[in-house]
Amino acid sequence: MLTFTEFMSESVGITFKVAKVLCTSESKYQKIEVFENEAFGKVLALDGKIQASELDEFLYHEMLTHVPLAAHRSPKSVLIIGGGDGGCIREALKHGVSVKLVEIDEEVVSVCKENFGIDGGALDDASVEIVFMDAFDFLKGCEERFDVILVDATDPIGEAEKLFSEDFYRTAFERLNDDGVFVTQSGSPVHQPDVLRKALSGTSKFFPIVRIYVAPVPSYLGLWSFVVGSKKYEPETPRNVSVPAKFYDEEMHAVAFKLAKLVKIFVGLD
Ligand code: SAM
Repeated sequence: MLTFTEFMSESVGITFKVAKVLCTSESKYQKIEVFENEAFGKVLALDGKIQASELDEFLYHEMLTHVPLAAHRSPKSVLIIGGGDGGCIREALKHGVSVKLVEIDEEVVSVCKENFGIDGGALDDASVEIVFMDAFDFLKGCEERFDVILVDATDPIGEAEKLFSEDFYRTAFERLNDDGVFVTQSGSPVHQPDVLRKALSGTSKFFPIVRIYVAPVPSYLGLWSFVVGSKKYEPETPRNVSVPAKFYDEEMHAVAFKLAKLVKIFVGLD
């Protein structure tokens, strides 16, 4: 029996039975795998870490995208960092905003288009600009300002480590408009509490308003956390947005922040 195991921490992991391998390739940056599992459907993994599954990717992508976009009262421009599977682009386009994606690995995008398909065509949307380069280098040299910056990056290892650094948070703060909103995925609060602590302390150095929210993502072993930094708007208060979504709505927006109480207990935050 072929299996795929990811350890989320030194002591806990998740194992998938592989029904079929759809793609295995080695890019300049990482090993890219797509396989099929009976329960989760197609699963994308990078360097042995699960990135998204057909069954539950909507939970992660809807919550990562709609929460900051709803917190901003009139977003027009969104920068997505990482996100080569296209899930966040798909959701962001529902807001009628201009979308730019900066992904370091062109091969992730081509593998996802051919073998994964969760973007629903969003990766080919003519209105989306995709830039293939290191997102921190992009931000440092960028003269544009954005309403929302959304970090859909891999865990803080290798090329993604810098996307959790104080320097990066400062640069993201500077590239946002005066009422801009920033969000980053911040790992499993139960299995990777240090990732959340780092994102929280880094964003808190620059953003006047910082909040944590969570979403259930079964393929990530339960709860997933997000840190949102805002220059002006209270992120817990959504404007009246009704985007077509499977899970996200105003009620879930509020629940996501309320459940952060649980995260604080696990991570030991005040
Ligand atoms: N939901 C995901 C997870 O499991 O955390 C993230 C998915 S998305 C596929 C992550 C993307 O971030 C990858 O395609 C990876 O190539 C990209 N990435 C990592 N480091 C980056 C960097 N420094 N600049 C731009 N993109 C980066």
